Amino acid sequence: MGMVRPANDPPAIPLELPPEALVLGIDVGGTTMKGEITDAAGAVHAAGVIETPKGLAAFDAMTALGDQLLGELSTEQRALVARAAVILPGIVDTARAIAVFSSNVGWRDVVIGDRFSARWGMPVLIDHDVTVGGWAEWRFGAGRGIDDVCVLMIGTGISGTLSVGGRLVRSAFGQAGEYGHIPVRYPDGLPCPCGNIGCVETLASGASVARAYSTRTGHETKGAAEVFALLDTDPDAEAVISDAVHALADGLIGVVHAVCPRLIVLGGGLAGAGAALTEPLHRAIAERLRLVPPPQVVVGEFGARAGLIGAARFARCGIVR
Ligand SMILES: [Zn+2]
Repeated sequence: MGMVRPANDPPAIPLELPPEALVLGIDVGGTTMKGEITDAAGAVHAAGVIETPKGLAAFDAMTALGDQLLGELSTEQRALVARAAVILPGIVDTARAIAVFSSNVGWRDVVIGDRFSARWGMPVLIDHDVTVGGWAEWRFGAGRGIDDVCVLMIGTGISGTLSVGGRLVRSAFGQAGEYGHIPVRYPDGLPCPCGNIGCVETLASGASVARAYSTRTGHETKGAAEVFALLDTDPDAEAVISDAVHALADGLIGVVHAVCPRLIVLGGGLAGAGAALTEPLHRAIAERLRLVPPPQVVVGEFGARAGLIGAARFARCGIVR
């Protein structure tokens, strides 16, 4: 990024892998985990998806998935797999390689140590799934080339990443970007699983949109996509999505004033709504602004593959930044 490194600064570590190297990436989700072995061009040489077992068994399943994919390669290819990245939900202490907490899968303070690296015979990096997926959208996807970008992954919950001045913002415990838990309907909103009231997530996550529509109409829905599909014909769907959009705008407005991102990228399941979400969100943000220009709002390029693509890029360049 044009920065000159002083001569006495330690070299940037770890190093980018050579172009012939292959990498193993594993993206652990609440219901399934996906793995891929890819080359520098992103071509997939082995791929698999398995169910995520609850609790500590999830870690054995990660090992087994890696074993399975590595086992599918020829001896020559296997020798080229130089590094792996496993990305995990919840809270991850990357510095100490500890899976701190996942409410979805159900683990607490699991020391990763060398459990993967000893098994697979290569360095294995770990990090937070949304951090890595959001970083991939910023650095290599919809946000590439732009220094100030906010990425929101909207699925069952909402979280994301923030890049300012060409740097990914990370907190002392590893991650930032908990946009879903910014309270926007306090104290009269719905209770959030986090313990607070009226968080963005209680109105704007995929699960919340579906629930709000069911509560309002008495009709069960399969998910938020169904509510978006009714947008042009059903005033209840319109009202529910409008509530979600305004909750997102209310949550983002402080972020927009604080760091003036040029771009907001939406990923996760709800981003499948496309312009039906990005256009009203852009309008809702713009109408709340007086001093700063409204950021563009776009859908991510990688969709549900953001995590896997991020894990592969992470393994390849050795660092998320
Ligand atoms: Zn919350």
